[in-house]
Amino acid sequence: MENCIGCEIISGGLTPPGGFIHNGEQWTLTHSIAPGGAPLRGMLILQTRRHCTQLADLTPQESRALGPLLQVTCRALEELFQPARVYAGSFGEGVPHVHFMLIPRLDGMPIGAELLKQVLEQHLWTCPADEAAALAAQVREKLRNVL
Ligand SMILES: [Zn+2]
Repeated sequence: MENCIGCEIISGGLTPPGGFIHNGEQWTLTHSIAPGGAPLRGMLILQTRRHCTQLADLTPQESRALGPLLQVTCRALEELFQPARVYAGSFGEGVPHVHFMLIPRLDGMPIGAELLKQVLEQHLWTCPADEAAALAAQVREKLRNVL
């Protein structure tokens, strides 16, 4: 769909740092991007391959693939960052293409809604694109044997 960042990533028109971590039949996994700014450190985006705006509209295949992908991706983030928590959220307000933001809550980060505010509105916790690309490569390596 035109003017959808999610679809631009799928079509290759927009390349997140490090490219695709996972490029499956139903879902793709990439490091997050921040249009016009720096990427958010370690925040991954798990999104549907097809343009779909509501979780309620997932196909049975997309639904079946989601759970295992979420689990192994969160495991990889835990192994890489040893975060207090890995947050998983799907809002669909800014980018109306089904996606989950997976955010490792690192040392010094606030809890819950305050972290989301800092990440989504204040664009804190960013990192250089080359660091995000290296993180994407590390996650890809972690998932190599499980996907
Ligand atoms: Zn889309």
